[in-house]
Amino acid sequence: MEKILVVDDSALQAAQLKSILEDDYDVTIANTAEEGLRCASEGEYSLILLDVIMPGMDGFTLLKKLQEEVITQSVPVILITGLSDIQNEQHGLMLGAVDYIAKPFAPLIVKARVGTHIKLYNYRRQVEYQSRTDQLTGIPNRRQHDRYSVVKWNEAARLQVPFSICMFDIDHFKRFNDTFGHPAGDKVIASVAKTASAYFQRSTDFFARYGGEEFVAFLMGGSTEKAFAHLKQVRQAVEDLHIPHDPSVSQWVTVSIGGVTVMPQSENSYASYLKIADTMLYDAKKRGRNGVVWADEKMRQLFEK
Ligand code: GH3
Ligand code: MG
Ligand code: MG
Repeated sequence: MEKILVVDDSALQAAQLKSILEDDYDVTIANTAEEGLRCASEGEYSLILLDVIMPGMDGFTLLKKLQEEVITQSVPVILITGLSDIQNEQHGLMLGAVDYIAKPFAPLIVKARVGTHIKLYNYRRQVEYQSRTDQLTGIPNRRQHDRYSVVKWNEAARLQVPFSICMFDIDHFKRFNDTFGHPAGDKVIASVAKTASAYFQRSTDFFARYGGEEFVAFLMGGSTEKAFAHLKQVRQAVEDLHIPHDPSVSQWVTVSIGGVTVMPQSENSYASYLKIADTMLYDAKKRGRNGVVWADEKMRQLFEK
């Protein structure tokens, strides 16, 4: 059931709204703006019904605060206003509320408006999800990488934690397609993504499909040696899938991985280190594939084999 938060200092009014909506939604009531803010930043609400006039923090102030927080800023807010509150309605809509419901409540109108905004919210979330996700593998796509990598790189620069970037590429994949067909190749890309994903599960990890049979990942914190060891495990895990390749090039499907670990200094230099990771990948290919090549801060290389 979708969750709705009602923020209203009047217990009676909140109970009325709850009774109108509780057959279709999981309704939580907060009696003050402060409590509303707390609930909103904890729970995953699909909609907030907000009374404008409350003692202490009022509805407008709460609305502004909700819009400042990443977790709550996209949740639609419907204002509850009195019939004579035209100015308040205007002000609330200017501040970013999606709609208003006037007292006294007409249950059918409340249900209809709530239903519409929840539908729109879910639609928008789905579109946003699709725009950042690769369809074949279900992992983040390149667009999401391009956006998110710079945010995280700058964060690491601010906090002064090491940052590791790596590129993967499936070995002899053209040959795989030529031998087993494109649909079989698609399945391999999905399997490799699934297997590697399991190694990037920390909240500071990121793994995406960069394009074609190439993937990109980054890790925050941890030394060069740790990152190198971790990626060797990932490379091994792909080999251990034992997906048969064309025997003339390789027994199993494998990946080559190139990476670099640095302490981010300046902002916006992520791209130049991504390029270094790609150069390391190129070296891994030259060295015979199915291997990891890593560079440290001073561009000294570590080789797996
Ligand atoms: P290397 O070991 O040097 O990486 O050789 P390679 O054959 O993997 O490299 P190359 O870049 O020449 O070929 C990549 C191939 O990946 C060619 C392309 O048909 C295939 N490919 C790219 N995207 C997809 C996809 O979405 N599905 C499938 N099945 N194949 C893809
Ligand atoms: Mg390639
Ligand atoms: Mg390849």
